[in-house]
Amino acid sequence: MLSMFNLPSPLEKIEWSVALDHGIEVWMKRDDQIHHVISGNKWRKLKYSVKEVRDKKYDGLLTFGGAFSNHIAATAHAGRVHGISTIGIIRGEEADRANPTLTKALKDGMQLVPISREEYARKELEGFLEQLQAQYPGYLIVPEGGANRNGVLGCMEILTEVQLDFDVIACPLGTSTTFSGIVASAGATAEVLGFPALKGGGYLRAHVNNFLEELKSTPKQLSTFSPTQNWKLIEDYHFGGFAKMKEPLVRFMNAFWKETGIPLDPVYTAKMMFGLDEMIRKGHFKNGTKLLTLHTGGLQGIAGMNKKLKNKNYNIEYEDKI
Ligand SMILES: *Cc1c(COP(=O)(O)O)cnc(C)c1O
Repeated sequence: MLSMFNLPSPLEKIEWSVALDHGIEVWMKRDDQIHHVISGNKWRKLKYSVKEVRDKKYDGLLTFGGAFSNHIAATAHAGRVHGISTIGIIRGEEADRANPTLTKALKDGMQLVPISREEYARKELEGFLEQLQAQYPGYLIVPEGGANRNGVLGCMEILTEVQLDFDVIACPLGTSTTFSGIVASAGATAEVLGFPALKGGGYLRAHVNNFLEELKSTPKQLSTFSPTQNWKLIEDYHFGGFAKMKEPLVRFMNAFWKETGIPLDPVYTAKMMFGLDEMIRKGHFKNGTKLLTLHTGGLQGIAGMNKKLKNKNYNIEYEDKI
Protein backbone atom coordinates (compact mmCIF):
# COMPACT_ATOMS: atom_id res chain seq x y z
CA MET A 1 0.00 0.00 0.00
CA LEU A 2 2.91 2.35 0.60
CA SER A 3 5.05 1.53 -2.40
CA MET A 4 5.18 5.00 -3.99
CA PHE A 5 5.86 6.76 -0.72
CA ASN A 6 9.38 7.72 0.18
CA LEU A 7 9.41 6.23 3.67
CA PRO A 8 11.24 6.39 5.97
CA SER A 9 11.69 10.04 5.02
CA PRO A 10 15.26 11.38 4.83
CA LEU A 11 17.00 12.73 7.93
CA GLU A 12 19.54 15.43 7.04
CA LYS A 13 22.10 17.41 8.95
CA ILE A 14 21.75 20.97 7.72
CA GLU A 15 24.51 23.45 7.00
CA TRP A 16 23.01 26.54 8.55
CA SER A 17 25.50 29.24 9.52
CA VAL A 18 23.47 30.73 12.40
CA ALA A 19 23.38 27.35 14.10
CA LEU A 20 27.00 26.49 13.33
CA ASP A 21 28.13 29.85 14.74
CA HIS A 22 26.39 29.07 18.02
CA GLY A 23 27.60 25.49 18.27
CA ILE A 24 24.13 24.03 17.62
CA GLU A 25 23.80 20.90 15.53
CA VAL A 26 20.60 21.08 13.49
CA TRP A 27 19.03 18.15 11.69
CA MET A 28 15.87 18.12 9.64
CA LYS A 29 13.46 15.25 9.15
CA ARG A 30 12.34 15.78 5.57
CA ASP A 31 8.73 14.67 5.65
CA ASP A 32 8.21 17.12 2.78
CA GLN A 33 9.85 14.46 0.65
CA ILE A 34 7.45 11.63 1.47
CA HIS A 35 5.43 12.27 -1.67
CA HIS A 36 5.25 15.09 -4.20
CA VAL A 37 1.58 15.82 -3.48
CA ILE A 38 0.65 14.01 -0.27
CA SER A 39 3.61 15.49 1.49
CA GLY A 40 4.67 15.66 5.06
CA ASN A 41 2.43 15.17 7.99
CA LYS A 42 -0.68 15.04 5.81
CA TRP A 43 0.12 11.52 4.73
CA ARG A 44 1.14 10.52 8.26
CA LYS A 45 -2.23 11.78 9.52
CA LEU A 46 -4.29 10.14 6.78
CA LYS A 47 -2.63 6.75 6.71
CA TYR A 48 -4.73 5.03 9.37
CA SER A 49 -7.98 6.60 8.13
CA VAL A 50 -7.27 5.41 4.58
CA LYS A 51 -6.56 1.99 6.04
CA GLU A 52 -9.83 2.08 7.99
CA VAL A 53 -11.81 2.99 4.86
CA ARG A 54 -10.31 0.01 3.06
CA ASP A 55 -10.40 -2.50 5.94
CA LYS A 56 -13.96 -1.66 6.97
CA LYS A 57 -15.12 -1.19 3.39
CA TYR A 58 -16.45 2.32 3.73
CA ASP A 59 -17.69 3.95 0.50
CA GLY A 60 -15.07 6.66 0.89
CA LEU A 61 -13.61 9.38 3.04
CA LEU A 62 -15.19 12.77 3.71
CA THR A 63 -13.28 15.69 5.17
CA PHE A 64 -13.12 19.48 5.49
CA GLY A 65 -10.80 22.36 4.66
CA GLY A 66 -10.22 25.86 3.36
CA ALA A 67 -9.58 26.65 -0.29
CA PHE A 68 -5.78 26.37 0.05
CA SER A 69 -5.76 23.44 2.43
CA ASN A 70 -2.82 21.05 2.26
CA HIS A 71 -5.07 18.49 3.90
CA ILE A 72 -7.65 18.74 1.09
CA ALA A 73 -4.91 18.39 -1.53
CA ALA A 74 -3.43 15.40 0.28
CA THR A 75 -6.77 13.66 0.87
CA ALA A 76 -7.81 14.04 -2.78
CA HIS A 77 -4.55 12.60 -4.01
CA ALA A 78 -4.43 9.84 -1.40
CA GLY A 79 -7.93 8.88 -2.52
CA ARG A 80 -6.80 8.61 -6.09
CA VAL A 81 -3.63 6.67 -5.24
CA HIS A 82 -5.50 4.21 -3.02
CA GLY A 83 -8.63 3.96 -5.14
CA ILE A 84 -11.08 5.40 -2.64
CA SER A 85 -13.70 8.10 -3.20
CA THR A 86 -13.22 11.41 -1.43
CA ILE A 87 -15.51 14.32 -0.66
CA GLY A 88 -14.15 17.70 0.45
CA ILE A 89 -16.41 20.14 2.27
CA ILE A 90 -14.82 23.49 1.37
CA ARG A 91 -15.17 26.63 3.47
CA GLY A 92 -16.70 29.70 1.78
CA GLU A 93 -19.21 29.84 -1.09
CA GLU A 94 -16.70 31.98 -2.88
CA ALA A 95 -14.21 29.09 -2.76
CA ASP A 96 -12.31 29.76 -5.94
CA ARG A 97 -12.25 26.48 -7.82
CA ALA A 98 -9.61 27.87 -10.12
CA ASN A 99 -7.02 28.07 -7.36
CA PRO A 100 -4.19 25.55 -7.78
CA THR A 101 -5.11 23.51 -4.69
CA LEU A 102 -8.77 22.95 -5.62
CA THR A 103 -8.07 22.49 -9.33
CA LYS A 104 -5.70 19.69 -8.45
CA ALA A 105 -8.16 18.17 -5.95
CA LEU A 106 -10.86 18.10 -8.62
CA LYS A 107 -8.46 16.48 -11.04
CA ASP A 108 -7.72 13.87 -8.42
CA GLY A 109 -11.41 13.01 -8.38
CA MET A 110 -12.45 14.68 -5.15
CA GLN A 111 -16.06 15.81 -5.04
CA LEU A 112 -15.97 19.41 -3.78
CA VAL A 113 -18.89 20.73 -1.75
CA PRO A 114 -18.56 24.45 -0.99
CA ILE A 115 -20.49 25.63 2.08
CA SER A 116 -20.84 29.08 3.61
CA ARG A 117 -18.47 30.24 6.30
CA GLU A 118 -21.37 30.36 8.76
CA GLU A 119 -22.32 26.79 8.03
CA TYR A 120 -18.70 25.71 8.13
CA ALA A 121 -18.31 27.23 11.58
CA ARG A 122 -21.08 24.96 12.82
CA LYS A 123 -19.21 21.82 11.88
CA GLU A 124 -17.91 21.22 15.42
CA LEU A 125 -21.44 21.23 16.82
CA GLU A 126 -23.50 18.17 17.60
CA GLY A 127 -26.09 17.59 14.94
CA PHE A 128 -24.04 18.88 12.04
CA LEU A 129 -21.99 15.72 11.70
CA GLU A 130 -25.03 13.49 12.14
CA GLN A 131 -26.77 15.39 9.37
CA LEU A 132 -23.72 15.06 7.15
CA GLN A 133 -23.37 11.38 7.95
CA ALA A 134 -27.04 10.88 7.04
CA GLN A 135 -26.41 12.66 3.75
CA TYR A 136 -23.31 10.58 3.02
CA PRO A 137 -23.88 7.26 4.75
CA GLY A 138 -20.98 4.93 4.30
CA TYR A 139 -18.37 7.70 4.32
CA LEU A 140 -15.76 7.85 7.06
CA ILE A 141 -15.73 11.44 8.32
CA VAL A 142 -12.28 12.78 9.12
CA PRO A 143 -12.03 16.16 10.87
CA GLU A 144 -10.35 19.20 9.35
CA GLY A 145 -6.60 18.78 9.15
CA GLY A 146 -6.85 15.05 9.90
CA ALA A 147 -7.09 15.95 13.58
CA ASN A 148 -8.18 12.68 15.12
CA ARG A 149 -6.69 9.73 16.95
CA ASN A 150 -5.75 8.04 13.66
CA GLY A 151 -3.82 11.20 12.82
CA VAL A 152 -1.86 11.15 16.07
CA LEU A 153 -1.12 7.44 15.68
CA GLY A 154 0.35 8.08 12.24
CA CYS A 155 2.52 10.91 13.56
CA MET A 156 3.83 8.73 16.38
CA GLU A 157 5.69 6.83 13.66
CA ILE A 158 7.87 9.80 12.72
CA LEU A 159 10.39 9.39 15.54
CA THR A 160 10.54 5.61 15.11
CA GLU A 161 12.45 6.45 11.91
CA VAL A 162 15.04 8.53 13.80
CA GLN A 163 17.85 6.49 15.32
CA LEU A 164 19.84 9.40 16.78
CA ASP A 165 19.26 11.06 20.16
CA PHE A 166 18.28 14.72 20.20
CA ASP A 167 18.12 17.21 23.08
CA VAL A 168 15.38 19.29 21.48
CA ILE A 169 12.77 18.51 18.83
CA ALA A 170 10.88 21.33 17.07
CA CYS A 171 7.56 20.95 15.30
CA PRO A 172 4.98 23.39 13.87
CA LEU A 173 1.32 23.31 14.94
CA GLY A 174 -1.94 23.82 13.10
CA THR A 175 -4.43 21.52 14.77
CA SER A 176 -1.68 20.10 17.09
CA THR A 177 -2.15 16.53 15.82
CA THR A 178 1.43 16.15 14.57
CA PHE A 179 2.93 17.81 17.65
CA SER A 180 0.85 15.51 19.88
CA GLY A 181 2.25 12.51 18.03
CA ILE A 182 5.80 13.79 18.58
CA VAL A 183 5.23 14.53 22.28
CA ALA A 184 3.61 11.11 22.74
CA SER A 185 6.63 9.31 21.29
CA ALA A 186 9.61 11.55 22.15
CA GLY A 187 10.74 9.54 25.18
CA ALA A 188 11.35 10.88 28.64
CA THR A 189 14.47 12.95 28.02
CA ALA A 190 13.82 15.06 24.92
CA GLU A 191 12.40 18.56 25.09
CA VAL A 192 9.73 19.22 22.45
CA LEU A 193 9.04 22.77 21.24
CA GLY A 194 5.89 23.57 19.29
CA PHE A 195 5.39 26.61 17.07
CA PRO A 196 1.70 27.44 16.47
CA ALA A 197 1.13 28.92 13.01
CA LEU A 198 -1.85 30.89 14.25
CA LYS A 199 -2.34 33.78 16.63
CA GLY A 200 -3.31 32.93 20.20
CA GLY A 201 -2.29 29.29 19.70
CA GLY A 202 -2.11 28.73 23.46
CA TYR A 203 -5.52 27.04 23.40
CA LEU A 204 -3.84 24.15 21.57
CA ARG A 205 -2.26 23.02 24.88
CA ALA A 206 -5.60 21.59 25.89
CA HIS A 207 -5.85 19.72 22.58
CA VAL A 208 -2.42 18.17 23.13
CA ASN A 209 -3.41 17.10 26.64
CA ASN A 210 -6.66 15.62 25.34
CA PHE A 211 -4.86 13.60 22.70
CA LEU A 212 -2.37 12.34 25.31
CA GLU A 213 -5.24 11.32 27.62
CA GLU A 214 -6.98 9.57 24.75
CA LEU A 215 -3.83 7.59 23.99
CA LYS A 216 -3.35 6.63 27.63
CA SER A 217 -6.79 5.09 27.66
CA THR A 218 -6.17 3.17 24.46
CA PRO A 219 -7.26 -0.43 24.97
CA LYS A 220 -4.21 -2.06 23.51
CA GLN A 221 -0.84 -0.86 24.63
CA LEU A 222 0.94 1.08 21.92
CA SER A 223 4.62 0.26 21.63
CA THR A 224 5.39 3.77 20.38
CA PHE A 225 3.70 5.50 23.34
CA SER A 226 6.55 7.03 25.33
CA PRO A 227 5.57 10.60 26.15
CA THR A 228 7.76 13.43 27.39
CA GLN A 229 6.48 15.85 30.07
CA ASN A 230 8.96 18.40 28.79
CA TRP A 231 7.07 20.21 26.04
CA LYS A 232 6.04 23.76 25.44
CA LEU A 233 4.50 26.05 22.87
CA ILE A 234 6.41 29.08 21.57
CA GLU A 235 3.70 31.54 20.62
CA ASP A 236 5.76 34.46 19.34
CA TYR A 237 6.10 33.53 15.68
CA HIS A 238 2.61 33.55 14.17
CA PHE A 239 3.35 36.66 12.03
CA GLY A 240 -0.08 38.12 12.61
CA GLY A 241 -2.13 34.99 12.11
CA PHE A 242 -2.73 31.86 10.09
CA ALA A 243 -1.32 32.03 6.56
CA LYS A 244 -0.29 35.65 7.03
CA MET A 245 2.70 36.38 4.82
CA LYS A 246 4.79 39.21 6.14
CA GLU A 247 7.76 40.48 4.18
CA PRO A 248 10.42 39.50 6.77
CA LEU A 249 9.12 35.93 6.67
CA VAL A 250 9.32 35.74 2.88
CA ARG A 251 12.81 37.23 2.90
CA PHE A 252 13.86 34.69 5.53
CA MET A 253 12.47 31.82 3.42
CA ASN A 254 14.36 32.93 0.34
CA ALA A 255 17.60 33.37 2.29
CA PHE A 256 17.21 30.00 4.05
CA TRP A 257 16.62 28.29 0.72
CA LYS A 258 19.67 29.94 -0.86
CA GLU A 259 21.86 28.93 2.06
CA THR A 260 20.67 25.38 2.75
CA GLY A 261 18.90 24.38 -0.47
CA ILE A 262 15.80 23.55 1.58
CA PRO A 263 12.45 25.05 0.53
CA LEU A 264 10.24 25.86 3.52
CA ASP A 265 6.49 26.24 3.34
CA PRO A 266 5.14 29.71 4.18
CA VAL A 267 2.38 28.74 6.58
CA TYR A 268 4.15 26.43 9.03
CA THR A 269 7.78 25.42 8.72
CA ALA A 270 9.02 28.89 7.74
CA LYS A 271 7.56 30.41 10.91
CA MET A 272 9.16 27.66 13.00
CA MET A 273 12.59 28.06 11.41
CA PHE A 274 12.36 31.85 11.69
CA GLY A 275 11.61 31.40 15.39
CA LEU A 276 14.49 28.99 15.87
CA ASP A 277 16.81 31.36 14.03
CA GLU A 278 15.91 34.14 16.46
CA MET A 279 16.10 31.88 19.52
CA ILE A 280 19.54 30.64 18.47
CA ARG A 281 20.79 34.22 17.97
CA LYS A 282 19.48 35.18 21.41
CA GLY A 283 21.37 32.29 23.02
CA HIS A 284 18.31 30.26 23.95
CA PHE A 285 20.08 26.95 23.25
CA LYS A 286 23.31 26.02 24.91
CA ASN A 287 26.41 25.20 22.94
CA GLY A 288 26.42 21.59 21.80
CA THR A 289 22.64 21.25 21.65
CA LYS A 290 21.41 18.69 19.14
CA LEU A 291 18.23 19.99 17.59
CA LEU A 292 15.86 18.02 15.38
CA THR A 293 13.45 20.02 13.23
CA LEU A 294 10.49 18.51 11.44
CA HIS A 295 9.75 19.66 7.89
CA THR A 296 6.06 18.90 7.71
CA GLY A 297 5.73 19.61 3.98
CA GLY A 298 3.11 21.98 2.62
CA LEU A 299 5.05 23.03 -0.47
CA GLN A 300 2.00 22.59 -2.73
CA GLY A 301 0.56 25.81 -1.26
CA ILE A 302 3.39 28.04 -2.52
CA ALA A 303 1.90 28.73 -5.96
CA GLY A 304 -1.33 29.92 -4.34
CA MET A 305 0.58 32.09 -1.88
CA ASN A 306 2.61 33.73 -4.63
CA LYS A 307 -0.64 34.56 -6.42
CA LYS A 308 -1.71 36.44 -3.30
CA LEU A 309 1.62 38.31 -3.28
CA LYS A 310 1.46 39.37 -6.91
CA ASN A 311 0.99 43.06 -6.09
CA LYS A 312 3.86 43.13 -3.61
CA ASN A 313 7.52 43.64 -4.34
CA TYR A 314 8.50 40.29 -2.84
CA ASN A 315 7.54 36.68 -3.45
CA ILE A 316 8.75 33.14 -2.77
CA GLU A 317 11.58 32.59 -5.20
CA TYR A 318 11.58 28.82 -5.44
CA GLU A 319 8.02 28.15 -6.62
CA ASP A 320 9.22 26.74 -9.94
CA LYS A 321 12.15 24.85 -8.48
CA ILE A 322 10.37 22.35 -6.23
C1 LIG B 1 -1.18 20.82 8.13
C2 LIG B 1 0.21 21.20 8.33
C3 LIG B 1 0.75 21.38 9.62
C4 LIG B 1 -0.09 21.32 10.85
O1 LIG B 1 -0.14 20.07 11.40
P1 LIG B 1 -1.16 19.73 12.56
O2 LIG B 1 -1.02 18.28 12.73
O3 LIG B 1 -2.52 20.12 12.08
O4 LIG B 1 -0.77 20.52 13.75
C5 LIG B 1 2.09 21.66 9.73
N1 LIG B 1 2.85 21.80 8.63
C6 LIG B 1 2.37 21.67 7.39
C7 LIG B 1 3.27 21.87 6.25
C8 LIG B 1 1.05 21.35 7.19
O5 LIG B 1 0.57 21.25 5.94
